[in-house]
Amino acid sequence: MMVLPAGAARAMAGAGETHDWYAFLRALTGIAPVVQPTPEMVALLGEACERTLIPASYFGKVRLSPRFHSALAHSLCHWSMDGLTPDLLEQGADAVLQQHAALAELDDDALREEWTRKTRELASLWRAWQAALTEAGLMEPIRGWQILLDALPARAALPLVMAGFTELTAMDCAALRILDARTTIALVALHDDAHPDAYRPTARLAAILRAADMPLQEILIPAAPVAPPQMTILDTPNPLYEVETVAREILKLQQEGVALDEIALLVRQPDALAEMLAVIFARYEIPLQGEVGLPLERSWRIRWLMDGIRLLMGVGVGADWLHWLEHPAHRLDYATLRPLHRLRRCQSARSWLDAALTRAADPNLHRLLQRLHEWRQGLPASLPQVARRLILHLGAPTQESDLAEWLQLVDAYARQWRRRSAPEATNLLERLVSGARYTQRLGTSGVRLLPMEHADLVETQVAFALQVLEGTLPRRCPDDPFLREGERNALNAALGAQGVCLPTRADAQAAEPMLFQRILHAARERLYFSYPRTQGGDSDALPSFYLEALKARLGDAVRTRFYSLEAITPAPEDALHPYDQSLREPTPYAEPPPILRHPDHRARRADLERPFSVTELETLLRCPFEHFARYVLRLRPLARELSLREVGSLTHATLCRAMRQRPRSHDPQEWVQRLVEHLQALLAERAPDLPDWQVEVLRALAQRLARRFGWREPRYLQQFGLEPHACEWAFGSATDDEDERAIAEPLHNQRQPRRVVYRLGNGREIALCGVIDRIDLSPQRDVALVLDYKLGSAPARSDFLDGRAVQGLLYVHAVRSLLPNAQVVLAYDRLKAGKRVRFVPNETQLVQRFNRGNWEDNGCVVLLTQGQWRQAENRLRHLLTQAIDGLRHATIAPTPGDHCRRCAFADLCRAAQR
Ligand code: SF4
Repeated sequence: MMVLPAGAARAMAGAGETHDWYAFLRALTGIAPVVQPTPEMVALLGEACERTLIPASYFGKVRLSPRFHSALAHSLCHWSMDGLTPDLLEQGADAVLQQHAALAELDDDALREEWTRKTRELASLWRAWQAALTEAGLMEPIRGWQILLDALPARAALPLVMAGFTELTAMDCAALRILDARTTIALVALHDDAHPDAYRPTARLAAILRAADMPLQEILIPAAPVAPPQMTILDTPNPLYEVETVAREILKLQQEGVALDEIALLVRQPDALAEMLAVIFARYEIPLQGEVGLPLERSWRIRWLMDGIRLLMGVGVGADWLHWLEHPAHRLDYATLRPLHRLRRCQSARSWLDAALTRAADPNLHRLLQRLHEWRQGLPASLPQVARRLILHLGAPTQESDLAEWLQLVDAYARQWRRRSAPEATNLLERLVSGARYTQRLGTSGVRLLPMEHADLVETQVAFALQVLEGTLPRRCPDDPFLREGERNALNAALGAQGVCLPTRADAQAAEPMLFQRILHAARERLYFSYPRTQGGDSDALPSFYLEALKARLGDAVRTRFYSLEAITPAPEDALHPYDQSLREPTPYAEPPPILRHPDHRARRADLERPFSVTELETLLRCPFEHFARYVLRLRPLARELSLREVGSLTHATLCRAMRQRPRSHDPQEWVQRLVEHLQALLAERAPDLPDWQVEVLRALAQRLARRFGWREPRYLQQFGLEPHACEWAFGSATDDEDERAIAEPLHNQRQPRRVVYRLGNGREIALCGVIDRIDLSPQRDVALVLDYKLGSAPARSDFLDGRAVQGLLYVHAVRSLLPNAQVVLAYDRLKAGKRVRFVPNETQLVQRFNRGNWEDNGCVVLLTQGQWRQAENRLRHLLTQAIDGLRHATIAPTPGDHCRRCAFADLCRAAQR
């Protein structure tokens, strides 16, 4: 019977009768050897740490860390197999102090004291864990092995051939010693007298077996004189290119008649490459077989479950619920979820679910929300039950490896869920999941994905060793965090006579050259080594020095193919797949018939008969590309956080309401108080959908602007002798723009807004629409003030004269159509600056009325002669005529300038000036 190290037998499935070593012992005795801890065992160690350790303990800082519990539980299992026990650890620690302190590098009193503290604490944690395992009815590792060893002599065993072993623990040796008395055992190991350093693990294995009182009879089998495989090195620019090159080479091999399951991919860290391999090989339709261990968080099902648990525990906000419910796993379409889109997304997860229950009209959705509502009642104590219900809802079998691992974790910590609050439980579950892994099974046929450690056990016709880099092959083996290298050496010296044999970093490092030798024998005909010259971003990567040694030894027998980054398309002989062929010969482009460029079509698209909002015309004049993105493509930047838009619309609404219900007096105190009251009322009625802290920031900002306004407004009213006539006066049509204000007061208009027409320079007319913030009138209605509230700046005099004050001039045009006999003054109230800038026709009466008050800053009055005013209007007419003409001809050239700073489409136009 052939027995292989743990994990290797699965990779050889179908290649004759082979057994995994531990599965073989289990089959023989009916007792499963404890090789590594289950999540339940780790959870019990976590509880023991919590009970036993205090913050001042040696491991006090990490006593609550699930990663620490998991690492320690794994170490305790390994130490048990290496022959160590809590008593031996304490005994060995004392012996180390007395006889081997130098070996353990315990050079001074502080280090010696630390060593004693650490080993005593480890021993006491170990004992506490053993007691907890026994109490919970679980198999304690040392006892488990003892029972297994006791059961072995009674079993009959077939002759064994053991292959691929590079290390054996004390327990493995004890089992072999018992089996050795009952049957014949042949251990096949690699050796070469000419290169003993390349095969050090074999020598160590022989030494361990001899030390375990197993007499060895060594038989040297000379290597069969077979021709070495043809070797090729693929030197590629980056990891993606490397995998693509390997895939293309496999396609060529397939074309030559090599069966896919005769090709092996040897990888040191399969999880790092798994995703890229899956994507690239799927592109080239190359099936993969084997399995790969991945972090649990890589599974979409686990991410979906974790999102659901988080929300049920009350962690998150409404937007997270919506996002989760939109997942295809729920099988809910957009129309079904639409009523829930109107709920406040920033409210807490808990209140959002309550509100959603009252809104859901669809019976399926209502049933689901009802169930979720019920499930959350018993959390976190009922987490194991809720986890199973969610999996049932997902419709996936619980035997799937990722779900099984996740459920094991949830079940293992059942006691913790009962003790912890919902946020604490969520936090613990997240930490547990972040450190856990699962095995993802690939297909059952196709190219074999194998760990390098099993390289020569599955001999194939062709093999590719990927990522052959310094640091990967040979790997820099890390030191053990609990017992460092020197400490292990010292413990081995102190306890060797009692059968303890802890593996060291040096042993692991010495095994690396043999791994490379094994890779050299992984393929019968062709062996490829590949590596990327860069790793993750731009950092350089070095090829393994083993490759240099190989080239030096074999010379021209090892060919190197260099791939440059510039060679984006594969060479003609490599382009076998339609995807690569399309890269080499792009689909010929045929100019489509000029339907879209026909002037009639463009005019239809421009739709010059519709009303143009003043804001749209302002955008069109500023930059035709911005206009195209905003008004033709109708793109909008995502608005998730507090922005100036909310500040502006809340302040506008507050000022509108305050002017409509203004105090009779001109007392600024009273004005400020009323403004603040209106602001609070508006926020209470229609708070924007933002997190609470952002609503508070919004309140503070808007309040500051409103206060500033309250101190000025009564003075202006007295000074100008005007009365507010209309706030939010619409013309043309009810809405001003696509971007309606988030918080808006009702329009002033009782009836349909009046039509306003604007004549262009070429005699054509366009209809205008817009909403004017405020219009004030004199008692005789012979003077009108058009007022625009602004968070930013007002146009400069030069802009006005150039016709660039588009919005203001068009508002004046609209008001003139309403009040043809009135003299119109245009004003911008700069809310942040606390300043009202007015553009006043230079006529004595108007100049006196709108002159600068002695409490005002300079620059708040811009006087304009009739000619200057006419000049501004004519220039605007000219600009608009050109812009509308450009619109008709679909001109969308970006026009960069200062305005790019506020434009959301810079990534699209790529011409932004910033
Ligand atoms: S970034 Fe500037 S040039 Fe580009 S679309 Fe916006 S305004 Fe136009």
